[in-house]
Amino acid sequence: MPDNKYLKRLFQAYYKENQSEIPTINLFEQREFGFIPWEKQIMNRHIGFTSSINLKKYFINNTPKHAYSSGSLFNQPENQDMKDKGYQGCDLIFDIDVDHFYTPCKEDHDLWYCKECGQKGKGMKEKCPKCGKVRLKKLSWICDDCLNVAKKEIIKLIYNFLIPDFNIDIEKMKIAFSGHRGYHLKVEDENVRTLTSDERREIIDFITGENLSFEILGLQEKGGNIFGFSRDTIGWSQKIINSIENLLGKSNIEIETILSDKKKFNLSQNLIENFINFKDEFRKIIKYNHNNNWTLVGFSLNAWDKFLKALIAEIGVEVDVPVSIDIHRLIRYPGSLHGKTGFRVQEIYHDDLDNFNPLDESIEKLDPIVFKSKKRISQKIEISEIEVPITKIKGELFGPYKQGEKIEVPHYFAVFLLCKGVAKTI
Ligand SMILES: [Zn+2]
Ligand SMILES: [Zn+2]
Repeated sequence: MPDNKYLKRLFQAYYKENQSEIPTINLFEQREFGFIPWEKQIMNRHIGFTSSINLKKYFINNTPKHAYSSGSLFNQPENQDMKDKGYQGCDLIFDIDVDHFYTPCKEDHDLWYCKECGQKGKGMKEKCPKCGKVRLKKLSWICDDCLNVAKKEIIKLIYNFLIPDFNIDIEKMKIAFSGHRGYHLKVEDENVRTLTSDERREIIDFITGENLSFEILGLQEKGGNIFGFSRDTIGWSQKIINSIENLLGKSNIEIETILSDKKKFNLSQNLIENFINFKDEFRKIIKYNHNNNWTLVGFSLNAWDKFLKALIAEIGVEVDVPVSIDIHRLIRYPGSLHGKTGFRVQEIYHDDLDNFNPLDESIEKLDPIVFKSKKRISQKIEISEIEVPITKIKGELFGPYKQGEKIEVPHYFAVFLLCKGVAKTI
């Protein structure tokens, strides 16, 4: 049996047995649904359901590979014509996906092959370092580290931005693990549903710290001195000042490590030493808001600019911008299965977020890894991809594997490799 048929049957059996666990999202009847079948990579969208029972029937009878619903609300979600759909507003959606930003662990587990010259390597590459061409085949993987980074971003989004700056009620935020490399957050609040795309962009600019002007915040050169900003103003200047204070509270060695990080601050040894020597004075200036004179040997406006930009990158949230701006986007339906992993798109209540551990979750109802067998049945499969990186799931290490290798692994891990398309059944 071709593997897609096999996986489809597994998904179908899952949906049959677990219908009651598929949540019904808010204002269900006004949502547009979209599905990608196992047979071809095309999304069937403009589908509406009059009740969640019909959606569950769809899962069982059609068993899609991927399932999505709209952030938008429509009078006629099934209408193909956007202008006749009767747009009624859109939830504010955030997507945090490590596909879109750098994490150090990718150097260990993300693989690429150049289709032009055959070069291969590890890490996150846009083009081949040997021949410069962009035709790369990429194998992106997951581990606890990158999923933790994504989780930290979503926590920052909630507690450092949505609540303090936008006064959004945490009970109106619906959080979900995407089933693969990230998290979604949906704000279901009538006040945000009327936001235009431009207004959504402004919110995103604020949350990412993009286009922030230090000059407007107060950074300026005057009579040979450089003046910084104070914490009196709310928003970004306060966030930056808090972050500087946090940095200054660290030991000299820690500061040196942070400031010399090539991917972030990347300051020269001289500048780092000057900064450390200035540490105690700088703390006083900031603490007492004392004339904000940040003049520091070697730190030109440019150097401050570089320093502050690195701070902003730490403070801001790595959201996937188009998802939040585009009101026609569909996002994965909670409780559905992700066709590239076999994991469940897992809704998480905010109180559970801190301890949530997608690859080894101990609370059964929060566990996205659903294809566990009680009898711990293992399954024989053959690796079809050139290389499969080492993977830790449920506390157990698997791999690395090479093409042609025949392995016997627990059911959930076999399903994961089959869904990832790096193995076949034998
Ligand atoms: Zn190449
Ligand atoms: Zn990782």
